[in-house]
Amino acid sequence: ATPMSIMTATGRGAQAGVLIRNAEALERFEKIDTLIVDKTGTLTEGKPKLVAVLPEAGFTEDALLRLAATLERGSEHPLAEAIVNGAEERGVTLGKADDFSAVTGKGVTGTVDGRPVALGNAALLAQIGLDAAGLATIADARRDEGETVMFVACDGVVAGMVSVADPVKQTTPAALVALHELGFRIIMATGDNARTAKAVAARLGIDEVRADVLPEDKARIIGELQQQGRKVAMAGDGVNDAPALAQADVGIAMGTGADVAIESAGITLVKGDLHGIVRARRLTRATMRNIR
Ligand code: ADP
Ligand code: MG
Repeated sequence: ATPMSIMTATGRGAQAGVLIRNAEALERFEKIDTLIVDKTGTLTEGKPKLVAVLPEAGFTEDALLRLAATLERGSEHPLAEAIVNGAEERGVTLGKADDFSAVTGKGVTGTVDGRPVALGNAALLAQIGLDAAGLATIADARRDEGETVMFVACDGVVAGMVSVADPVKQTTPAALVALHELGFRIIMATGDNARTAKAVAARLGIDEVRADVLPEDKARIIGELQQQGRKVAMAGDGVNDAPALAQADVGIAMGTGADVAIESAGITLVKGDLHGIVRARRLTRATMRNIR
């Protein structure tokens, strides 16, 4: 590739909000056949909203939400923000949290007003020896609507569930149609539950879903695809996505996301819109054609 044509391409990309790190990223991107996209913040708005509070016997809605929101004040996760904002909107007063601990890809634990509380997915409940089987039917019905259901445990029992919804970005469906036309196989990877993930993927025509994925698994999944001979780009926005972005042949950071994600990326989409990948592909094809 000649330096001149690459400068032209990166310059044009920058004007359209597609920042290409260097010539290597440009050349590698032309060979990509598989695109892995994170769900939260990449396909969706990444600003989930609390939509349901479902207490078990012995807890009121407000009491359950107080436990959840008090603990989540210590977390920076988008799900935590949804729960804290939801409590505020409902006028629920918060208590005192102690011994806060985040369990990556699973949830949070600590005490609220001196009572032990855990909040997160089924894996987190299992970790503390609790079982959410009795709530499965209700949880699954909400997941089929694309919601993320979290379990709350308190004093060693399941206290209930809270559910949040994260709408798909307005620009996502059309971007995915264009990306399919460009020949990418599109795989969604998410830490979210399989049921929720499949509901969202089905609406968007995504080719393959990897759900219940821990952040460190994303890099491993990419490595496996690469061993099968695939050329893989990964689009993500979170702090947790940095290892996967680094493992990918081309990491694509959504510009609205965390700085560490951007540092690990070959391409940054300033507008945080997947149409940027369509632009990047057209640009690299045109550039590489000119060069040869
Ligand atoms: P994603 O890949 O969608 O960004 P994460 O790996 O961050 O997902 O989280 C996976 C799952 O772990 C979430 O769907 C949720 O059930 C649970 N979880 C993670 N962090 C929290 C938290 N702060 N509060 C409640 N649940 C959480
Ligand atoms: Mg994420």
